[in-house]
Amino acid sequence: MSEKEYNIHDFDVALICEYFSGMDRQGPGSREATIKALGFIDNIDVKSKIVDLGCGTGAQTIVLAENTPCSITAIDIYPGFIAKLNENVRKLNLQSRVKGIIGSMDKLEFENNELDLIWSEGAIYNIGFEKGLKYWNKFLKKGGYVAVTEASWFRDEQPEEIYDFWSEAYPEIDTIPNKIAQMQNAGYIVVASFILPEVCWNENFFKPAVKLQEEFLNKYKGNKSAEEFIKYEKYHAYLYDKYKDYYGYVFYIGKKI
Ligand code: SAH
Repeated sequence: MSEKEYNIHDFDVALICEYFSGMDRQGPGSREATIKALGFIDNIDVKSKIVDLGCGTGAQTIVLAENTPCSITAIDIYPGFIAKLNENVRKLNLQSRVKGIIGSMDKLEFENNELDLIWSEGAIYNIGFEKGLKYWNKFLKKGGYVAVTEASWFRDEQPEEIYDFWSEAYPEIDTIPNKIAQMQNAGYIVVASFILPEVCWNENFFKPAVKLQEEFLNKYKGNKSAEEFIKYEKYHAYLYDKYKDYYGYVFYIGKKI
């Protein structure tokens, strides 16, 4: 079977999570991009409540904590990521304000109108962009914000190879104007959108993965599932290099109307 015939949904979740636990971030992004997005958001004070959904091991959660004065609840479905996040939080002595908990972004237990800001980098795709934005809306105060990154097309037409990859990985990928319309449709004014620079993918995501992939393959020598997963990750990096003019991650920042 070639890597083209595989898709991410075929792999063993525990194996994927073990692999990504070894990375500082589980998706493309950067400290600078998180701070830039935060710059579009006002009215955050010591009493504000921020929630970071699909936080992974918390790279962006820590940046948020260092650049805001309030409480942050970080939620992820995978216990191993939350354990690592809480360990980092303790090391940085942020435990009085930042807490990682295990949970699902589509089953939140907050009150209506409770939150000031919902953050989610590279994770809303798990429940779908428009569906997630609509569901999260009620938990935000009026005038509260949502800030998410989402895979988006930069052009209306795409070469077949990259179109086919995304059709399997995430068929909801769409153009920036269509994503903006979906955010508006979900009850937000779109206050900003910007494309994550290449460094967020190459330096911060694909490059640190190279060594990890070698170690992983050594550990799981002969394990077909692990080998195919790493092949898929390498293919992802190859496609990004070839087609980065056609797609990438975009930060979308919306204000609840
Ligand atoms: N925000 C992090 C992680 C992005 S990867 C970063 O940018 O580095 C996507 C994350 O979503 C993973 O950590 C995965 O465990 C989490 N996830 C997947 N489905 C989820 C769900 N239903 N609820 C909460 N988290 C989920």
